[in-house]
Amino acid sequence: MRLVPFMSLFRELGQRETRAIVLMDGPGDESDIPADRYELIEFYCTDPKCDCRRVLLRVIARSTEKPVCTISFGFDADDPTRGPFIDPLNPRDKFADEMLQLVDHMVLSDPKYVERLERHYRMVKDKFRGGLRFDPRTMSPEQRTAERKRRQKALKKASSVRMRPGAPPHP
Ligand SMILES: [Zn+2]
Repeated sequence: MRLVPFMSLFRELGQRETRAIVLMDGPGDESDIPADRYELIEFYCTDPKCDCRRVLLRVIARSTEKPVCTISFGFDADDPTRGPFIDPLNPRDKFADEMLQLVDHMVLSDPKYVERLERHYRMVKDKFRGGLRFDPRTMSPEQRTAERKRRQKALKKASSVRMRPGAPPHP
């Protein structure tokens, strides 16, 4: 399994659609997390045969550029391993648990944001499943038709080897 940052594949859209949590110091602030801007950098699995339906959100503090934690979250509400939970394979700061609660409460509870993540997931899978060879915005009608045919063929091939639902998210 290979995970890549969404931003590295779709730079402009990634910059526009990456969320951040801004924490400020204030009276009555009981949080242990230092005031900072925390970017939620999305990572997706690029394996066209893997149907993990999941995002990894790496929370990075703007001032230090250090990751606080990496949060794993699935798109299927009935998946018992949906999360969000802290990915144990990645470095974690002492504020990781509090950050997880914050991210869950502030962004993952927003259906629009979760929809966006799922759309990004699909874009990454499409790119690696035969992938888009041209930018759809600049394609000629002939290119568009050829591209559609080519992708349908690639999709057919990929869906015949798709993992069965209920299989573990990752080997
Ligand atoms: Zn996967």
